[in-house]
Amino acid sequence: MKFTVSAVIPCFNEQGNIIPLYQELTDVMKSYPEYELLFVDDGSKDDSLEIIRSLASTDQRVHYLSLSRNFGHQHALKAGLDHASGDCVISLDADMQHPPALIPALIEKWKEGFEVVNTIRGEQKSLSKSKKITSGLFYHLVNKLSSVEIKPGVADFRLLDRKVVDALKQFNENYLFLRGLIPWLGFRQTSVSYEPAERFAGQTKYSFIRMLRFALDGITSFSNRPLYLSIGLGSVIAGLAFVYGLYALYVHLFTDAALPGWTSITASVLFIGGIQLIMLGIIGIYLGKLFIENKRRPNYIISQKNF
Ligand code: UDP
Ligand code: MG
Repeated sequence: MKFTVSAVIPCFNEQGNIIPLYQELTDVMKSYPEYELLFVDDGSKDDSLEIIRSLASTDQRVHYLSLSRNFGHQHALKAGLDHASGDCVISLDADMQHPPALIPALIEKWKEGFEVVNTIRGEQKSLSKSKKITSGLFYHLVNKLSSVEIKPGVADFRLLDRKVVDALKQFNENYLFLRGLIPWLGFRQTSVSYEPAERFAGQTKYSFIRMLRFALDGITSFSNRPLYLSIGLGSVIAGLAFVYGLYALYVHLFTDAALPGWTSITASVLFIGGIQLIMLGIIGIYLGKLFIENKRRPNYIISQKNF
């Protein structure tokens, strides 16, 4: 069976990783005569693009896209998927955390007929405690609050069949969350687990705040359940307030201790005020998203490419 394989690699300031990754990838890809390595430079400020271009000048299988500025991991990935030409397309990070050595296993599954082959990150010693906790919390929340199921530890390291890539091309969301979108798409999906390696060089681009934003984006892109939260919370609080009212009435009618407390009034006003602010915030997030999506801006802009 003759087929072409594309590897899509989003890179943002990865100058120390590109050459080692290239070497490992070419080593693995040797067994697949027709392949392309598609690097997407996501507005790097370091020498990443120069390094990719020099690779491309000696190896015609190296393709690259350079975005006009940093558009973020998900959009860089989408740009790569939109431009990849392979019958199957594998996306992986540039930092060697996604071992190229797993690629043959992904391709085997694809040959068995699976159209999406996800990878699941195994327990990893090198992963920091905070990353483990935040990542666990993230998957828990996303699954609780949204209608698609995302398996814990699924990263953007996966193989997609041409059909799936073409389906993804139709999506033009500004708040792109591929981990949620891909299970939503359907098709025959399976997964392979792997032990992630440590980041080879450089630092992670996901700070705590960025991860939090990613999580909030993920949840609010896939679900409007948080909007219903206010109804639930409101009913609970109204119920409590009713019981408290009965108690106050009882104190008023049957005891002498009816001194309406400043403390309890303040506390309840603050409490309800706080809940209202939270709910306003949630509504605000959705409204903000509507505002941005409504502009229908392109999700990325390409400044140069070599194919
Ligand atoms: N990345 C990107 N644009 C960004 C941030 C990250 O293209 O704005 C790339 C980055 O170069 C890497 C991948 O996305 O190839 C994953 O990023 P990182 O390794 O920093 O995330 P982590 O593995 O720590 O979650
Ligand atoms: Mg990484």
